[in-house]
Amino acid sequence: MPGLFDWTNLLKGCRDLLFPPRCLICNEFIIEVQARSRSVFKRPDICLNCWKGFIPLPPAHCSRCGQPFQTDLPSVHTCANCLKKVPAFDQALAAGLFQGTLRSAIHEFKYRLRMELVHSLADFMTRGLNPPFYPPEADLILPVPLHWRRLKERGFNQALLLANTLFSPWKDRVRYNLLARVRWTEPQIKFKGQERQRNVLRAFAVSRPENILDKSVILVDDVFTTGATANECARVLKKAGARYVLVLTLARVA
Ligand SMILES: [Zn+2]
Ligand SMILES: [Zn+2]
Repeated sequence: MPGLFDWTNLLKGCRDLLFPPRCLICNEFIIEVQARSRSVFKRPDICLNCWKGFIPLPPAHCSRCGQPFQTDLPSVHTCANCLKKVPAFDQALAAGLFQGTLRSAIHEFKYRLRMELVHSLADFMTRGLNPPFYPPEADLILPVPLHWRRLKERGFNQALLLANTLFSPWKDRVRYNLLARVRWTEPQIKFKGQERQRNVLRAFAVSRPENILDKSVILVDDVFTTGATANECARVLKKAGARYVLVLTLARVA
């Protein structure tokens, strides 16, 4: 109401003065709040320096899997790997590269349970994937599931939290129970190349294929390394009759 004194802002100002916010990545005091307050989600929890360290996916990348190419020119062709073995997913898009402060942010988010980072991460993803983002024709948004044992250990599924934040206006399309991880697997980080594919083989299953049949699916995950996990999920979804599978990740390995 005009003319009414805004006590909330004064209290927030006092709080920030007494307890200045610290960056969740580098732990420095955040003095650039204004600069990052244009976030489409919430008040940011990371400083401008760390935010600037998030490297977007270069315009020159494989049109299928997003593998960056060693050129500055934007390109629209597939990489040698995708030509050799066509992935099960139709396209994989990543907002940024899995390095620098983005890598640290994902680590803090996932392993140190700094769940409030999801807002800045989703914010980066929205900006980085625009366009083509939020395909309105997508019927289902599925987070890559965790095995129940891993879920119990970690306490949350980072892909589900990310999907819910990213797609908050379409929450009814975010479904966590259609695709399940039915087999315990060792962390992919322990394996390389072909071994990664073997490690996740038959690790996922669709509970009721009729819910997937002829649906356009967005599969959400935090990191795309070799694509073995995304590919195995997509294979299972396609087998259940999915029409289109788009993989969206926060970051991919270059
Ligand atoms: Zn920082
Ligand atoms: Zn490729």
